[in-house]
Amino acid sequence: MPDDPSLRRFAYRTAGLRASEIRALFSVASRPEVVSLAGGMPDTGALDMDAVSDTLAQVVAHDGAGALQYSGGQGYEPLREQLVEIMHTDGVAAHPDDLVVTTGAQQGLDLLAKLFCDPGDVVIAEGPSYVGALGAFGSYQAEVVHVPMDAEGLDPGALENTLQRLRAQEQVVKLLYTVPNHQNPAGVSLSAQRRQRLAEVAERWDLLVVEDNPYGLLDFKGEARTALRTLIPERVVYVGTLSKIFSPGIRVGWVAASGSIRDKLVQLKEAADLCQSNLTQHVAHRWFSVQPWQDQVAHFREHYRKRCRALTDALSDEMGSVCEWSEPTGGLFVWARLPEGVDTGEMLATAVNHRVAYVPGRAFYADGSGQRELRLNFSYCDEDRLRTGVQRLAEVVHAEIELVQAFGESRADRRPDDS
Ligand code: PMP
Repeated sequence: MPDDPSLRRFAYRTAGLRASEIRALFSVASRPEVVSLAGGMPDTGALDMDAVSDTLAQVVAHDGAGALQYSGGQGYEPLREQLVEIMHTDGVAAHPDDLVVTTGAQQGLDLLAKLFCDPGDVVIAEGPSYVGALGAFGSYQAEVVHVPMDAEGLDPGALENTLQRLRAQEQVVKLLYTVPNHQNPAGVSLSAQRRQRLAEVAERWDLLVVEDNPYGLLDFKGEARTALRTLIPERVVYVGTLSKIFSPGIRVGWVAASGSIRDKLVQLKEAADLCQSNLTQHVAHRWFSVQPWQDQVAHFREHYRKRCRALTDALSDEMGSVCEWSEPTGGLFVWARLPEGVDTGEMLATAVNHRVAYVPGRAFYADGSGQRELRLNFSYCDEDRLRTGVQRLAEVVHAEIELVQAFGESRADRRPDDS
């Protein structure tokens, strides 16, 4: 719409905001006949709904007037104490005074991007990285530079090389953003040895680390990994959320940071929305103080472990010869790679026509890579649907590979002839 008068009034920083090319397809993908392996939704249906209902009723019965009020900008103190306990079960130490409650981890990331990033500043992130973080950094015009990862997570040697290169180019690196546990989208965790090496690199290069940990408690074996915040507490800003261990609908997340970072975050939070919803903070507080929440999390873990197994077994059966994928140790996602020449972005429309959806790999890179990669979610569909989804996807993938082999180039490259 070149003659839309609003366009010239928009702030420069909005120029980089793009409507997702795949959003239109996702509205089709959400139709019931489509098996969606695309979203990142936990299975809230696996919650004990009677317990949820009791919790809601008790909040209103015990402190309805308080819960319906504003809260302070830093968040409801009894909840912050509870969140510290939750971090503790995940092996991370913090003090309630250091926590700022946010509207999900996503708002935490947005406020951190707003706090640290000037246009052109560099944020280093795993390649691939969480799409919502890329959006948050991009909306403050930061440049995301990726560091490769493998089955052991981010490669600290490659991180150091990247830091060297960026310094030589006189680029300002503001922070490293990382999801060390059951990463979204790659489904892998940073190994113990690499955590140590990453901590050393951060010390050597005076690097601030944003450690985003939504999935730590969703380890299939219930094992906790040492947090970066435990190794180098003064260098790490920790982001947590209740979305995956209770509910994303209550939108409760938090940032743990001390001193001036915490103070500035409170000011930014107040500027954004005055305070977190007090009602949902009370609900969360009651859930985690009254309900056997650790049993619920153990149930989620087992539930997702089985679903993950169903998905990876189906991948072996249907696409074992043409596809590689990560073997997740927890979390919600499998990351898959198809043969050279396949473009998962191009293939999505065909997949949706075959009633299956996924997220193309390119969404998880700021630099346009990820052409032959894709993310598959296993938390939301039951085992039968996961198998059906993979069967449908396999038909599309095998046909696509035949096409690529026949033409010897990617569909994207052929587009001019196709049209
Ligand atoms: N970080 C990561 C790595 C995520 O995967 C997500 C959600 N998918 C978030 C942050 C945001 O979570 P929420 O805002 O629901 O807390």
